[in-house]
Amino acid sequence: MRELQCLPGIGPRSAERIALWLLQSRNANPLRLARSLHDAQQLLKNCNLCGFFTTDDLCQICTNPERKKHPLCVVETVHDVIAIERTGIFQGSYHILGGKLSPLDGVSPDQLRIVPLLERLKTEHPPELILALSADVEGEATTHYLTQLLAQTGILVSRIAHGLPAGGGLEHADEITLSKALAGRHEL
Ligand code: ZN
Repeated sequence: MRELQCLPGIGPRSAERIALWLLQSRNANPLRLARSLHDAQQLLKNCNLCGFFTTDDLCQICTNPERKKHPLCVVETVHDVIAIERTGIFQGSYHILGGKLSPLDGVSPDQLRIVPLLERLKTEHPPELILALSADVEGEATTHYLTQLLAQTGILVSRIAHGLPAGGGLEHADEITLSKALAGRHEL
């Protein structure tokens, strides 16, 4: 129960219910759950190209022959890739920054995957880069920073349209809002 309470969104009552269910229910398989958690921690690493989860050097998105390489969509976290993938309308590739600029929290540009992004742009020459960052202060600051940085590259830089809840991250948006936001992106 103590361990379960450390999980996001799980309070003491839920922890108690889950623990008792795991121990008593015929449908429960606590060993399989434990193995899955163990394997996930041991085997998963970040894709060398986009930063998504993978067990190899490159992830299933980067190596999927059915997908187009471009446009390249820049997001903050793995959550955001999963959220956009759920909409099913994006067929390009991703670049996960690993966060957003936040001077108050001590997050500066060198702590984000910005240098690997610039290296990708040099080798891949994408015709378009979509900035799909949060609609909060830090997300806006990151969008502004990247727009300035990419101004001389000649790459068409767009951002997803507003329509996401103010102050909210992409992972909280429903599929329709996120689909509209992607479809309504505009050039910067
Ligand atoms: Zn990848």
